[in-house]
Amino acid sequence: MQEKIIRDKILEYMTLENVFKIVNDNIFPLLNEEEKDFCHELQEFCIELHPKIDKNKDVYVLFPELGKRGYIQRINLWRDFKPYGMKAEVLLATHLSCLDSQLELARLASGILCGNPTFQHGETEEIFKVQNELMEGKKIGCIGITERDRGSDAVNILSTCRKSEDKSHVIYNAEKIFTTNGPKADYFATYAVYNTANPRGTMVQAMVSRDFKGELITNRLKIPYVPRVHIAHTIMNEVEIPIEYILGDNGKGYTNLFDGLVPERLGIMGSGLGICWATLAYAIIYSNLREQFGRKIIDFQGVGFSLADLLARTSAATTLAFQAASEYDKNILFAEHPSKEAEKWIAGISSQGKYLVSNLSADLTYTVQQQMGGISVTDNTDVQELSSTSYIEEVIGGARNIQLLIIQNALRRIGKIL
Ligand SMILES: Cc1cc2nc3c(=O)[nH]c(=O)nc-3n(C[C@H](O)[C@H](O)[C@H](O)COP(=O)(O)OP(=O)(O)OC[C@H]3O[C@@H](n4cnc5c(N)ncnc54)[C@H](O)[C@@H]3O)c2cc1C
Repeated sequence: MQEKIIRDKILEYMTLENVFKIVNDNIFPLLNEEEKDFCHELQEFCIELHPKIDKNKDVYVLFPELGKRGYIQRINLWRDFKPYGMKAEVLLATHLSCLDSQLELARLASGILCGNPTFQHGETEEIFKVQNELMEGKKIGCIGITERDRGSDAVNILSTCRKSEDKSHVIYNAEKIFTTNGPKADYFATYAVYNTANPRGTMVQAMVSRDFKGELITNRLKIPYVPRVHIAHTIMNEVEIPIEYILGDNGKGYTNLFDGLVPERLGIMGSGLGICWATLAYAIIYSNLREQFGRKIIDFQGVGFSLADLLARTSAATTLAFQAASEYDKNILFAEHPSKEAEKWIAGISSQGKYLVSNLSADLTYTVQQQMGGISVTDNTDVQELSSTSYIEEVIGGARNIQLLIIQNALRRIGKIL
C-alpha cells in the first residue's frame, strides 16, 4: 500500500476471511459435502498466502505455491489431487480470483489454455513431461491463437508450418499477439496451418518449447490493466518442433482448438465469479462500516438497493456456472460416450455463461466503485485490481461480440426447424 487513507477500524474487517464468510453464506447451499470441504481447503490456502503476496512482483513467483497443492488446474486428475472435474475447476478459479485476480488470469492461461491439451490430446512421454512441469508450477505455459490480422476470426490462421523432409519435425513460422504469459513462458500451445487456403483441414496444434531449434521471440506488450501479468507479441521463425510434441496434426488441430474453447470459457466463468464475489463482499463490508451524514452508507437506498441488485445477479450467475460445470462433468468429462446433444448444449451454454459472467464482473466492479466512493480506486483495497482484471476477462476467450455471435448463430438455426 503506497499511502493508507482508509481508517483502521474499517480496514481490519476488509479481510479475505470475511470475504469467504460472505461467499460461503451464499454458495454453500449449492454444494455437496466434498465440494464444501474443497472450498474450506482452498480458503485456508488463500488466507495463508494473501498477506505474503508482494504486489510489486510478477504473479509468476507464486506458481510453485499453486503447484505444490495441485492448484494449477483441477479439470483433470493429476497425481492424486482431488476433487477434480469442471465443477472443482470453477471453485478453484473462483477462490483464486478472490485471492489475486491477476494470478488467476495467468494461472488459467498456463494450467487450462496450455495445460488442458496435454491431458486431452497428449500421448507421448515428452508431453507428459511438459504436463508435470506445468502442473508443478515450475514451468509456465501459454496459448498462441490470436494473430495481428486474425483476432475474432480465429479459424483463418495465417501462421504457417511444414513437415521436415524426414517427417521428424514440423517447422513453424508463426506470429501471434496477446500471448498471456508469453514473455515468461517455457511452453507455447500454438496453432499454425499447412495451407492457409484450407485452415480447417490442415491446422496443427503443437506444444512449442522455448528450447527448440529456431528463433522464438517474445516481446512484452504494455497492458496497464494487469501489470503483474506478462503478455507477448510472439514470433516464431523456423522453429523446429519434434513430432512427439504435435498434439493435433493436419486438421486435428482445428477440432482440438474448438474442443478446448468450451472448458476455457467455463473456466473463465469461475474467474469472473471470483471477481464478482470478492468485489461485492468488500463493498458489503465497507458499506456496513463507512458512515456519512451520520449513517452507515448501506442504509442509503442508493447504495443498498444497488448492492442488493448485484447480489441477485451474482447469485444467478453462480447457479448457472455451477450447473453448466456439473453438466459438463456428467455428460462430457466423465461420460463413457458423450452425446452430440450434450456437446451442443454445453458449447452454447459456455458462450452464454462466459458472456454473462465476464460482462457482469465488469459492470459489477464499475458499479461497486460508484457505491464505495474514492477509496475503491486506490490501492487501499483490492477492488481496483479486481475491476481492472474484469475488463481483460471480457476480452480473453473470445470477446463479448463473439460470444453473442455464437449464440445468435444457434438462434438462426431455429429457422431451419420451424
Ligand atoms: C489482455 C489480453 C490477453 C489475451 N490473451 C490471449 C492469449 O493468451 N492467447 C490468445 O491467443 N489470444 C489472447 N487474447 C486475444 C483475444 O482473444 C482477442 O483479443 C479477441 O479474440 C478479439 O480479437 P481482436 O482483439 O483482434 O479483436 P477483433 O477481432 O479485431 O475485433 C474488434 C471488434 O470487432 C468485433 N467483431 C469482430 N468480428 C465480429 C463479428 N463477426 N460480429 C460482431 N462483432 C465482431 C469484436 O467483438 C471487437 O469488438 C488476449 C487479449 C487480451 C486483450
